[in-house]
Amino acid sequence: MRILVTGGAGFIGSHYVRSLLAGEYTGGAPVAVTVLDALTYAGRRGNIPADGLDFVHGDVCDLPLLLDLFPGHDAVVHFAAESHVDRSVVSGVEFARSNVQGSQAVLEAALRSGVPRVVHVSTDEVYGSIERGSWTEEYPLLPNSPYAASKAGSDLLARAYWRTHGLNVSVTRCSNNYGPYQHAEKLIPRFITRLLRGATVPLYGSGRNVREWLHVADHCRAVHHVLTGGRAGEIYHVGGGEERTNLEVAQRLAALCGADPGLIRHVTDRKGHDLRYSLDDSKIRRELGYAPRIAFEDGLRSTVDWYREHTEWWAAPAAQGPDPDPLPHPVTSPRARTGQLP
Ligand code: NAD
Repeated sequence: MRILVTGGAGFIGSHYVRSLLAGEYTGGAPVAVTVLDALTYAGRRGNIPADGLDFVHGDVCDLPLLLDLFPGHDAVVHFAAESHVDRSVVSGVEFARSNVQGSQAVLEAALRSGVPRVVHVSTDEVYGSIERGSWTEEYPLLPNSPYAASKAGSDLLARAYWRTHGLNVSVTRCSNNYGPYQHAEKLIPRFITRLLRGATVPLYGSGRNVREWLHVADHCRAVHHVLTGGRAGEIYHVGGGEERTNLEVAQRLAALCGADPGLIRHVTDRKGHDLRYSLDDSKIRRELGYAPRIAFEDGLRSTVDWYREHTEWWAAPAAQGPDPDPLPHPVTSPRARTGQLP
């Protein structure tokens, strides 16, 4: 089996690639892997092994490149996206380009190249916010951030390529991921890397916003379940089942980092900040026999240990986003991230 992984140098994609190469989903049997990644600020070649895979530095919006690359692959797993909500609040341009146009190009190239199977990786944020209960796969899409809207657009394109052309594509929608190799701009690594340095952590608003946490290893295993057993045109939720307020997460991280909880500072809330996300993931459990294995407390502890032991991975300013230290707002200009400041 030869699998092409887009965004395979980012946080989740690189975990999936490392797992494939280690034969984790195939009883140790090797899987041939091609990674396509534009190596934006969020992607690093060093996140995946130097050898044992084909790496292509390229853009998912580049249809001629995709048409060159896709033939001969048995599957495409599409992770590549702009993924940080805060950046999409500053500017949605790159989100519309990479997430919508890029996904359309991936679907089109898969269709024209005769790739027999595609998994499109998406997010629970396409549903907006839910105060009580959990979303099933039938809920209407009500995205609130430009990031979520761009992912919703790509999900609809995936459905359209299945319905119109019969492309064998499934969509996964997962809750918030955490684990090693996550960019320090995201909530958990941002808090860990600041607490380990004795710096204050900025908590949006009251900190009452609830997120459902999913370890990246569980998410990637679920994606592979969907790749091998999921049905065409279907959506599968991947939830972690572990809901926490952001304040609870910050307090637990302070304890695990051995830091003063007084470092947690409430800052002006994010615009349009969703209050709660919660997925009903009974479909993937029932149909594909998947269930998460990593309890949040264990996963959080091992994630803190990983960041403690890999300071070289995150301590360089470039690894933390454009402006990591001043509070409350880490994001300055969307152009700063690519070093394209005038
Ligand atoms: P990430 O930002 O860590 O990695 C994204 C990767 O995609 C990077 O390697 C980047 O270089 C690459 N990329 C971006 N634009 C590209 C383009 N135009 N062409 C080629 N490569 C490009 O993101 P992540 O957290 O690993 O998320 C992966 C996927 O999972 C995304 O589709 C995201 O929407 C989805 N998701 C993430 C989470 C989460 O909690 N991190 C939750 C739900 C869904």
